[in-house]
Amino acid sequence: MTATAPADLVIRNARVFTAAAGDDRLYAGLAVTGGRITAVAAADAELDAHVGPGTTVHDLGGASVVPGLFDAHCHYNHGGMMVLRELVFPSHASLDEVLAAVDTFARDLPEGAWVSGGSWGSTLLPQLSSLAARARLDAVSHGHPVHLYDDSHHNAWVNTEGMRVSGMVVDGSGEYPEGTLQDPRTGELLGVLLERATDTVRTYLAQAQAPTPEEHLEFARKGIEVLNSFGVTGIQDALIREADLVTGHALEEAGELTLHISSCLWNPGPGRPGHDVAALEALADELGSDLLRTDFVKLALDGVPPAQTAAFEEPYVPSQQWGDHHCGHVTMDPAELVGVLRHNCENGRSTKIHCAGDASVRAAIDGFEVMRREGFADVRFHIAHGQFVRPEDRVRMAELDVVAEISPFLWYPNVIVSAISEVLTEERTARMHPNRELTDRGVLVAGGSDWPVEPLPNLWLGIAGLVTRADPGCRFPGTLWSEEALTVPEALRAFSLNGAVAARLDDEIGSLEVGKCADFVVIDRDPFAIEPAEIAGTRVLSTWFAGEVVYEAASVVPA
Ligand SMILES: [Zn+2]
Repeated sequence: MTATAPADLVIRNARVFTAAAGDDRLYAGLAVTGGRITAVAAADAELDAHVGPGTTVHDLGGASVVPGLFDAHCHYNHGGMMVLRELVFPSHASLDEVLAAVDTFARDLPEGAWVSGGSWGSTLLPQLSSLAARARLDAVSHGHPVHLYDDSHHNAWVNTEGMRVSGMVVDGSGEYPEGTLQDPRTGELLGVLLERATDTVRTYLAQAQAPTPEEHLEFARKGIEVLNSFGVTGIQDALIREADLVTGHALEEAGELTLHISSCLWNPGPGRPGHDVAALEALADELGSDLLRTDFVKLALDGVPPAQTAAFEEPYVPSQQWGDHHCGHVTMDPAELVGVLRHNCENGRSTKIHCAGDASVRAAIDGFEVMRREGFADVRFHIAHGQFVRPEDRVRMAELDVVAEISPFLWYPNVIVSAISEVLTEERTARMHPNRELTDRGVLVAGGSDWPVEPLPNLWLGIAGLVTRADPGCRFPGTLWSEEALTVPEALRAFSLNGAVAARLDDEIGSLEVGKCADFVVIDRDPFAIEPAEIAGTRVLSTWFAGEVVYEAASVVPA
């Protein structure tokens, strides 16, 4: 197992959890050469053989080490942009607090600049859906256009100036896509825009505020810096367009890509506006590399439950807006879905599908089943988010080798979970994320933050919550379906090895094993010796990528 040539680096006197499959033991240290692990040692004495005159030796004084974390669903460019440019308020902020934040932010902006940011809690949706609320937003905008997204980033609250500037007819006399909320008496737009109803404003913003290539790089650098600061050294970039690839490639060329990226090429579905899928695929073939993988495609089959755009088998709670029998609907028919899946499979690409309701989960699995029957065995299929999976579909996920990519952190009570319970009933909401059952059935469960849906990619909150099923922030009482809790090693693997396997990167990363990249994290506490709830407060002391330090505590503390 061990090489006897002197190593570049030896880490000793540590408590190393390797996350290797089936191995929950703790090791004393590692040897690293050329950025790869050359030995994993049970005792410090075994490492002596790896120390030569040129070896750097770090005695960690008993500190804990885990593999570099893997975030199976994040949007790091957008996250970096939010940290640098946008108005950020917590999703538990009240309407008054949101308005106060806009007031302060708008005051110092140059004329004509947008107030962009978020994210308001979905629980505020009923409060925002009135002309009175729109008037209050206008009153604190200081004449600026305002665009604020919700905690799912699918829906937006826009002020009158924002709708006007982006070309929407505000008085109700226009043609509007589904999801454009209007005053029931006057027809005037309320400023609340759901799903595709946000397209007009978003398209305008994307053009008017298109970042320059230099700004793109700046956002991406910040995104990587923040991820590294939480111990993340691998991600699935869950929805990418051409500019994201160009940026990632430029960072790789400059030696600044200090994490492994599995890019998911966005495909909005046949005949839908968006971008040129063929051009994106061609660019992906050209720019893809070991570090910047381009072998995944992202599709979406529905929206999100609080906006009642997620597709369910059973109806939502009756409402004035949607009536008594509203179930939401999937956005692609089976033939369309199979067509896109087959195209991806034939190109050797795996597919990740956004599915928030149990009906879209089922539709996705139906499509995956056809692909498996057609003989496509090597590609991976991900249900992204997948909070609601019906019992029979949990069995099918195991049979068809479908990955449960769980994101954001909705396996414990929080503001999004509360918003879901208002539209679905408490009873149905109490059956979210059957992680225990899926794991026991052999389904790969891989965790993601969906940053910036989670305000920061602090995966330690997600890890703690997988074990406790309780809010790590202690704002929301109780637990969510505690029978579905994972153990500490399982939760750590959900955010390391499992993500790497799900992204087809496990030959390289995900666990600390001989031959793999020396991506690891030194943390301030031993996750196996403390109450699981305390894992939420984990501080990363240093993050190592390919055997080099890429983050050290106190050098970067994101706000
Ligand atoms: Zn996402």
